[in-house]
Amino acid sequence: MDIKYFDNAATTKIKGEVLEEMLPYLKEEYGNASSLYSIGRKAKRAIEKSRKQVAELINSNPEEIYFTSCGSESDNTAIKGIAYANRKKGNHIITSKIEHPAVLHTCQVLENKGFRVTYINVTKEGVVDLNELKKAISMDTILISIMTANNEIGTIQPIKEISKIAKMYNIIFHTDAVQACGNMSIDVKDMKIDSLSLSGHKINAPKGIGALYVKKGIEFEKFIDGGHQENDKRAGTENVAEIVAIGKACEIAKNNLEKHIEYLKNLRDYYINEIETKISNVKLNGSKTNRLPGNTNFSFEGIRGETLLLKLDEIGICASTGSACSSGSQEPSHVLTAIGLSEELANSSLRITFGEENTKEDIDFLIQNLIKITNELRNKDK
Ligand SMILES: *Cc1c(COP(=O)(O)O)cnc(C)c1O
Repeated sequence: MDIKYFDNAATTKIKGEVLEEMLPYLKEEYGNASSLYSIGRKAKRAIEKSRKQVAELINSNPEEIYFTSCGSESDNTAIKGIAYANRKKGNHIITSKIEHPAVLHTCQVLENKGFRVTYINVTKEGVVDLNELKKAISMDTILISIMTANNEIGTIQPIKEISKIAKMYNIIFHTDAVQACGNMSIDVKDMKIDSLSLSGHKINAPKGIGALYVKKGIEFEKFIDGGHQENDKRAGTENVAEIVAIGKACEIAKNNLEKHIEYLKNLRDYYINEIETKISNVKLNGSKTNRLPGNTNFSFEGIRGETLLLKLDEIGICASTGSACSSGSQEPSHVLTAIGLSEELANSSLRITFGEENTKEDIDFLIQNLIKITNELRNKDK
């Protein structure tokens, strides 16, 4: 069966050029980057080239980029590392209610270690309430962590305004930009971001590689103790091949950014318009315009998202529900609940996220099947 993949927020396909670039480092160029002979030096050079490519995507300096094993490790390192290094100054952290678990659960762990965390509400469209953010700030606030764009509903946060508030009170600002990088323009200097996470597998590189930007001068404790790799901030023999891959993926993302955004936006708006006109009782979750170019999330009233997902899977279509299904008990998505959806509506959501491999024909196939499946499921109940 021909697979039609519409779950690019979960992971993306490795680009051919990215794979080509990394393969030599899994074959003949197997040197340890800390070794002084030629293949070691070659590995080291490849890592530094990649560091530059990642830095260029977000307009940082290469020395401000640290390679990690994934986006989650980047978030953990930034939040725990900054919290521990700045504990003398205070123990209060502010984040939002719609963060990825890599941020939310990290903050919850810090609460158990004696930190105080405020979880800010969002509007109906999923935008952080800036007044509430300002009100939450106190003398002991050391860190604000707000994601650049949401992974479920695609909402883009007013990052410049948030960092402005953080700067006003001399608070460090971290942002989880795992979904945003490669899908919108990010400039850490212009946006005054102190710390930022990104992940390889969300931008057409393989799984198991991440990067963390931390602005020069911001103190953070290291996450993995051991050797002196990554400027003594992250021990462990470097994953050279994957580091090369994330660098190449960032270079491609930077060079194609405008075209990429335009292409995905067209697919997204076409899909949204078709669903709204051809299927009744649907609700678009998030904002119509202030959202990632490839993200859509609809609730289909009276239908379980999970049921839709399984029906689509039968015909080779990969999609996602907004809800995290864990061992039989289905908890509604914390993001959809935070934007005010009832448990029932939250459990009736379907996230479709586009990538460059998707075509308009693929989307027509998806829409036709969604019309058919929703009709069948709704008529069955009558
Ligand atoms: C995927 C994702 C992560 C986690 O990245 P991994 O590399 O899978 O650990 C963190 N935050 C957001 C917003 C994500 O979408």
